[in-house]
Amino acid sequence: MADLREPDCLFCKIVDGTIPATVVRETELTLAFRDIHPQAPTHVLVIPKAHYPNAATLAAADPRTAAALLTDAAAVAADEQIAETGYRLVFNTGKAAGQTVFHAHVHLLGGEPFHEGLV
Ligand code: 5GP
Repeated sequence: MADLREPDCLFCKIVDGTIPATVVRETELTLAFRDIHPQAPTHVLVIPKAHYPNAATLAAADPRTAAALLTDAAAVAADEQIAETGYRLVFNTGKAAGQTVFHAHVHLLGGEPFHEGLV
């Protein structure tokens, strides 16, 4: 539900325009914008407009929007011309995994080869 909003949430403020961001894609359910501290030549965050603290709570409450994060990430990858070369999608879930903003989001990273990581 797109009307779910948390007053102190940074990404809710980006959704409502209170905090500016470089938006690359918008749908009824989702917003995609460039990360302020890019970790790769393409680093875009895809988020639900509604507030859920992480991907797990989003998927449990609204699987349609959770799936939309993946299709939107693929659409952005195509727009950024990294779909063919490959890209990485990352959902940090919880502090120990490095999550710092507790509004569900997926990182879309690409544009350069990745070193082998944890997975
Ligand atoms: P997390 O660490 O929670 O998985 O990812 C949060 C991401 O949000 C980080 O990569 C961080 O750089 C990004 N971020 C934090 N504040 C802002 C902001 O004000 N604007 C944008 N565009 N990205 C932000």
